[in-house]
Amino acid sequence: MPSQTSIALQSVDSVETSSTEIWLTDEILFNYQRCPRRVFLDRYGDRQQRTSPPDYLRKLRQDSYVHQREVLSQAPFQEPNYPRRDWVAGAIATTALMQQGVDRIANGVLQIPLGNGIHLVSCPDLLVKQPGYSIWGDWLYAPTDIRLGKRPKLDYQVAVAFHTYVLAAVQGMWAETGWLILRQRGTYAVSLVDVLPRMEEILQSCMETLLQQQEPEVFITHSRCDLCHWFSHCYTLAQGDRHLSLLPGVTPSRYIQLKALQLKTLEEIAIASPKQLESLPGFGFQVAQRLVKQAQATLQNRAIAHTESSLSPTVPLLSQIELPTADIELYFDIEAAPEQNLVYLHGVLVVDRLAQTEIFHPFLAEHQVAEGKVWNQFLELVWRYPHAPIFHFCPYEAQTVKQLGECYSTPSHLIEALLSRFVDLHERVTRVAILPVESYALKPIARWLGFNWRDSAANGAQSICWYDQWLTTGDRTHLEAILRYNEDDCRATHQVKDWLVQFTQLDIAPFS
Ligand code: SF4
Repeated sequence: MPSQTSIALQSVDSVETSSTEIWLTDEILFNYQRCPRRVFLDRYGDRQQRTSPPDYLRKLRQDSYVHQREVLSQAPFQEPNYPRRDWVAGAIATTALMQQGVDRIANGVLQIPLGNGIHLVSCPDLLVKQPGYSIWGDWLYAPTDIRLGKRPKLDYQVAVAFHTYVLAAVQGMWAETGWLILRQRGTYAVSLVDVLPRMEEILQSCMETLLQQQEPEVFITHSRCDLCHWFSHCYTLAQGDRHLSLLPGVTPSRYIQLKALQLKTLEEIAIASPKQLESLPGFGFQVAQRLVKQAQATLQNRAIAHTESSLSPTVPLLSQIELPTADIELYFDIEAAPEQNLVYLHGVLVVDRLAQTEIFHPFLAEHQVAEGKVWNQFLELVWRYPHAPIFHFCPYEAQTVKQLGECYSTPSHLIEALLSRFVDLHERVTRVAILPVESYALKPIARWLGFNWRDSAANGAQSICWYDQWLTTGDRTHLEAILRYNEDDCRATHQVKDWLVQFTQLDIAPFS
């Protein structure tokens, strides 16, 4: 074990380094599974290019901490006392507790040097004493992680396998099982036989990246990059290079296939034959055809008509999609906090084309108990216009209305009648148009059409944070921000619908 003086302590998120040593924690391994590049940048990147974590990430961390403390408080435990991120001191204090045979040890540190400049550092949320044999006597420990997530995702399981691996070296004996405690599913036993080999592969790859200082290529995937502190840096690089990860339909596995065919640029894909691509693993004719058109639309910065291959190109686009236009139309958007199982806002923009009015109706639950009341207010409004189509973007609104109907025992025939008026514009747009956008979410599409949100940084995650801040502080400016954002979403949906009507009426012959 290294001496304490050899450790350089830094108050950073994950990578703890001295000039020659690498402290590879379970947190680093967890991040590596999500993005190897992030781990590389955390160690070797220019810290000036990091941005501070978004509010939503802070909220997730806080929620996770509260959840962990709640679970821990269900039974007595002891914690090692050591300076924050002083892994050697933490490991010494934890080992002393294990040696004493303490039943439950929370936030312990396990540490082993590998001899190649890397120290493995594992911080399981809980170490639980079990019958068995270890270097200390007739007991041993098994690791447990407490997670906010609902499912035992593979990256959670890999972290538990890592704890078990380091713990085996510390106590001289393998624990039979590692455990996850999940918020909704409860206790879950991780199958070490299945997960340990996977963990070792990931660990090996992570160590190579760090030791050989190999910078992984940028690959923007919004689901994982949006909350990353390197996003602005990586996105600027990707945009500058017109990286293919910004082209909808290019997934990491398809990207590998495209590179193998020497299709590395937008231009090369735009002139490729779909036939050349369709036999690649993970493609098929529809994907191949759409990808080539997507590259053309992006290069030409224009919308391209897209028809299903089964339909005749001579059939007008408008008749291929059900897109009602009525004197009165409703544009609907929901704000919800799925973690709390709460729908706190139904926003409806009522567009009266004859009267030339657009009136926004927000039904906002200022407190959790008001969810049922605003649900009824929403129903009362939509039934005031029984023939008006209800436009929304993505299936979430329809799914949520179904769930609320069940939750509040709204008669099913009323819900069915209501849902028959719903029109999902995301489904309609993607069915007939290929757009020069990086994703087919509402924001990129509406922005391409020239729509601007009054608060450019607002999004669904930020709305959840605002609602949380309102509940905590009682400051109504947070509610006002939510209403502004939701109204803009409704207006953006309206703009997309109007554009789609015009586009389909142009009757453009589809590309062959
Ligand atoms: S922004 Fe994306 S690609 Fe860049 S480091 Fe973060 S997760 Fe990785």
